[in-house]
Amino acid sequence: MDPAPTTEGNLDNSHRTRDWEKMNCLLDHIPGIIGNRDPKTWYKTEAIDPQTIAIREYRYYQHNIHYLIMGTERAILLDTGPGLSDISAVTSQLTRLPVTALATHGHYDHIGNLHLFERIAAADIPAIREHCEGDEYHSTFHSSVSARRRAFTVTEWLDLSKPIDLGGRQLTIRHTPGHTNDSISLHDPDRGYLFTGDFICPLPNVFGKILMGTSLPDAVASARMLATEFPESRVFGGHTGFLPPRSLQDTHEALEEAAEWAEHGSGIMCSFQKGDMRIIASK
Ligand SMILES: [Zn+2]
Repeated sequence: MDPAPTTEGNLDNSHRTRDWEKMNCLLDHIPGIIGNRDPKTWYKTEAIDPQTIAIREYRYYQHNIHYLIMGTERAILLDTGPGLSDISAVTSQLTRLPVTALATHGHYDHIGNLHLFERIAAADIPAIREHCEGDEYHSTFHSSVSARRRAFTVTEWLDLSKPIDLGGRQLTIRHTPGHTNDSISLHDPDRGYLFTGDFICPLPNVFGKILMGTSLPDAVASARMLATEFPESRVFGGHTGFLPPRSLQDTHEALEEAAEWAEHGSGIMCSFQKGDMRIIASK
């Protein structure tokens, strides 16, 4: 068993975006300009339980949250941030287990530190394979919404029909297009955790709580599948904070309404709210 992780901060939704953090948005791609990126102060960690650690990139304007998910034999680091600060320096302090890095999707703010890890997993789905030459993944502006090219070598292709075995802990993997075509979600059946990346996550802005980059029908189908298969799960998104189980059903219902509007409604943009879940859909 690993040493107990240190808890250095709280993961609440009250963080205010300071002016200098907003500047990161503009300066993401200019190395060296943003001040101190020491991992010790760039990240804060919080134990969801002794084997599940949220690593919050709280000084980054997008308030990313990455998850170190540990079994007895190995660990998964789910998402790695934009690559502004070395997250492997944090994971090496949290566990002596071999860590495999895995991104929920290919956007630049999730794959930026993948190359720091010897073990990199990817879901074996066409939306990811199409960016690969063999095992070499190459991002494009379209795939990562960034001018900065990212490349890494996939060392483990994940078969979605089989769980990821971490030793005494298994994770179910699902393809959940909606935010992007390559989005995946992980479910921990024993703990009732569902890690959804950016498909379902609270956002500290006017864009609602789901960011859709692909088709509404895809998003509806993904939300329906998650709400049906994992209805009582706590939802851990890729930014800002956590969501209660009800958010899955709320997401599904809001998306169903949005899809109905997209087919038959008027206007070019509309907001849909169910409970705390709000989405803004456009035609
Ligand atoms: Zn994203």
